[in-house]
Amino acid sequence: MSVHEDAIALRDDLVRLRRRLHAEPEIGLDLPRTQEKVLAALDGLPLEVSLGQALSSVTAVLRATRPGPVVLLRADMDALPVPERTGLEYASCVEGVMHACGHDLHTAMLVGAAHLLAARRETLPGDVIFMFQPGEEGWDGSAAMIAEGVLDAAGTPPAAAYALHVFSAAVPHRVFAARAGTTMAASDRLDVTVVGAGGHGARPHRAQDPIPVMCEVVTALQALITRQSDIFDPVVLTVGSMHAGARRNIIPDTATFEATLRTFSTPAKARIKAAVITLVESIARAHGLRAEVTYRDGYAATVNDPREAAFAGETIREILGPHRFRQLANPLPGSEDFSRVLEQIPGAYILLGAGDGTADNHSPLAIFDDRVLPDGAAVLAELALRRGCNTRAA
Ligand SMILES: [Zn+2]
Repeated sequence: MSVHEDAIALRDDLVRLRRRLHAEPEIGLDLPRTQEKVLAALDGLPLEVSLGQALSSVTAVLRATRPGPVVLLRADMDALPVPERTGLEYASCVEGVMHACGHDLHTAMLVGAAHLLAARRETLPGDVIFMFQPGEEGWDGSAAMIAEGVLDAAGTPPAAAYALHVFSAAVPHRVFAARAGTTMAASDRLDVTVVGAGGHGARPHRAQDPIPVMCEVVTALQALITRQSDIFDPVVLTVGSMHAGARRNIIPDTATFEATLRTFSTPAKARIKAAVITLVESIARAHGLRAEVTYRDGYAATVNDPREAAFAGETIREILGPHRFRQLANPLPGSEDFSRVLEQIPGAYILLGAGDGTADNHSPLAIFDDRVLPDGAAVLAELALRRGCNTRAA
């Protein structure tokens, strides 16, 4: 039987696991019930399992019977603070928490890959690390697992790393997609406090009003984006929150705003970071005020190795048919902490359409079709099985 046929035979188990995970979602770095379910689903397989200290991760290593390139396969496992409104029979039983990004499917697919590969241990070209990761949704769980040694789990660093992500609307149903180079954006955070001096609204000349300065800064930032960034290496800057003052006739001491910045390359990020800080501080200074600027680096851009992305595409076409894979034309402006792994290990982040296209990921109405589970499990397993024999990606 082929890997895909074996994966189809696992379908009912994977669907059951996915739906149990879906009904009991957990947020952040501490996912004890999710961890429990993963451990139970891996029980009996010939794996070296270790658990995280600072987070409820599961790292499992499957040893090959012969030496070869180590491959890392990763699934994120955390849910979101979203109140589910899908009406599904297996909908979340935890109020205000939902697997609205499909990480329950990722977890089930990686469990499936572990079963498929454990059954083929004799033909495995090298060890496989299964990385079950909490805290993708803004908690940098990937960095925490790297700090705890996931990349050294097999004793030799991985030669390649792969992850799948399902999309309920951004990718056609049942189609896998990948691209060489940047696939997801870097996401940084800007916090600004314009520091003035409060006073009476009737006598602004005796105060230092931070509000018009803040407004000028926000407008100038948009001009900066259009004038100082390359249109072929885009930057997105959104000011999502502004706060100042309490009453119409009182000039406040300070005005604050926060923004998100998305970039798609390291040079663009470095350039815009320096330019933004200079602009904010300079405008405040020009008006005789001061600005406190905090620029927080978030997830880096998720950058696929061109050879690994091509290898992934070829593998998917071969096992599922040419119509099941397409090149992703443009990167997505979301961000992803698998970027932490891809900063150190060449690999590919692969998208998989698993929805009817109506509600996007993170929506309370997002529905992910778990009929894709065997396909995802088979693709992950085949990437590990074929990577050792792959000369193109070597
Ligand atoms: Zn996600």
